[in-house]
Amino acid sequence: MAKQYETVIGLEVHIELATKTKIFCGCSTEFGSAPNTHTCPVCTGMPGSLPVLNKQVVEYAMALGLAANCKITQVCKFDRKNYFYPDNPQNYQISQLYLPIARDGYVEIDTPAGPKKVRIHEMHMEEDAGKLVHDEWDDTSLVDYNRSGVPLVEIVSEPDMRSADEVIAYLEKLRMIAQYLGVSDCKLQEGSMRADVNLSVREVGAEEYGTRTEMKNLNSFKAIAHAIEGERQRQIELLEEGKEVIQETRRWDDNKEHSYAMRSKEDAQDYRYFPEPDLVPIVISDEWIAKIRAQQPELRTEKLERYKREFDIPQYDAELITESKRVADLFEKAVELCGKPKKVSNWIMGEMFRLMKDKSMEPEDLVLSPEHLAKLIDMTDAGAISASVARKVFEHIFTDDVDPEKYVEENGLKTVKDEGAIREAVEKVIADNPQAVADYKGGKEKAFGALMGQSMRMLKGKADAGAVREMLMDILNA
Ligand code: ADP
Ligand code: ZN
Ligand code: MG
Repeated sequence: MAKQYETVIGLEVHIELATKTKIFCGCSTEFGSAPNTHTCPVCTGMPGSLPVLNKQVVEYAMALGLAANCKITQVCKFDRKNYFYPDNPQNYQISQLYLPIARDGYVEIDTPAGPKKVRIHEMHMEEDAGKLVHDEWDDTSLVDYNRSGVPLVEIVSEPDMRSADEVIAYLEKLRMIAQYLGVSDCKLQEGSMRADVNLSVREVGAEEYGTRTEMKNLNSFKAIAHAIEGERQRQIELLEEGKEVIQETRRWDDNKEHSYAMRSKEDAQDYRYFPEPDLVPIVISDEWIAKIRAQQPELRTEKLERYKREFDIPQYDAELITESKRVADLFEKAVELCGKPKKVSNWIMGEMFRLMKDKSMEPEDLVLSPEHLAKLIDMTDAGAISASVARKVFEHIFTDDVDPEKYVEENGLKTVKDEGAIREAVEKVIADNPQAVADYKGGKEKAFGALMGQSMRMLKGKADAGAVREMLMDILNA
């Protein structure tokens, strides 16, 4: 009988922290600026420059650690990790090896078999490297140091995951925590969240783990899922052929759907770590931890509980809305302004999610403001605009965050309340359609619908349907 294999996966996830300035200097962390415009002697590794630790980095790392049920290391310090590469101007990276800021935590993920804990071995703070841009036409490489010194937290899991689905659930969970805490936007495409996947296989029932490889360069959930499947099969084939898996770092090429060896895996001693001499140890008091704990915002589970208590919306809606902090904030603010949770939820669950899907947008890309959504709801309820006009206006709020009141005014979309205008339109439709009128009078109910439709069209959909129906009835039955 064919052997059965189990996949074992542990992740090293880098999250870029959303501080305004870098970890050891005052340069901006802004993404997408012209190359080498956010640099100084510290983050370009000039001799004689000295790092100064950004306190916000420590607080964000503590917040992440606490949210992932870790123990905070109350005396922690930085270590120097030496390696030579042009993206790293100091020739070393300031990181943490011996006393990382947080240890021994876990996050819970949902699996088909129920909730599962993925243990977190540690979280440590470190600085990001610069970015190399290879120009193959010109046969040159360029370097941009804007990213050099951007603060990172690396989150190292235990090898607790068993499938690509579990890996993605874990990453989504980390992303949700970081976004809820406001410590990172976690955009895989922009590299503010990056995952290295360590994977081994073993025969089902085996006690020992197999030899693992590490895959880098994964910048989407899709690439991660592909890479896991590809590497799992590659390792199983090796074992089936009686060969060995070599512990190494591999690069996954998602276009070629293939991974290739990058370098043999280096050990900690290859980096010649030693305590960073330019920075003092960080002493974290009980009070400091208590302060960060007290500042932790409501996370998703608590939010769901509160929604159940405060708002009369279905559990399903609440779950989808709280999936992203961005959407939850929008919902709460709009409810606060208009006081109608069910209506706000309907717009979000219906039109907003539909448009987001059409345009394949992420919650972070949303531009509509809660003020304008709330106003739209109030205007509809007050009868100032009809339901169909409201849907049209919503699209413009969604794409350009227009002020609905102004937009309706400028485009003449206000509901026609003027009885004279309605009468005029209805009379014209009746005069123009003698056949339909005769049909209706002869008992054909359907004919009424046709007359109604024409009247609404004549009023450009802006009239209150109830008022038009009444007027039509009155005249026809007169
Ligand atoms: P190193 O010190 O070489 O980086 P670590 O022990 O820190 O190795 O582990 C790095 C990552 O690899 C962790 O996320 C861990 O869960 C994962 N890992 C370790 N051993 C295995 C294995 N046999 N199979 C899959 N993943 C593993
Ligand atoms: Zn700098
Ligand atoms: Mg490691």
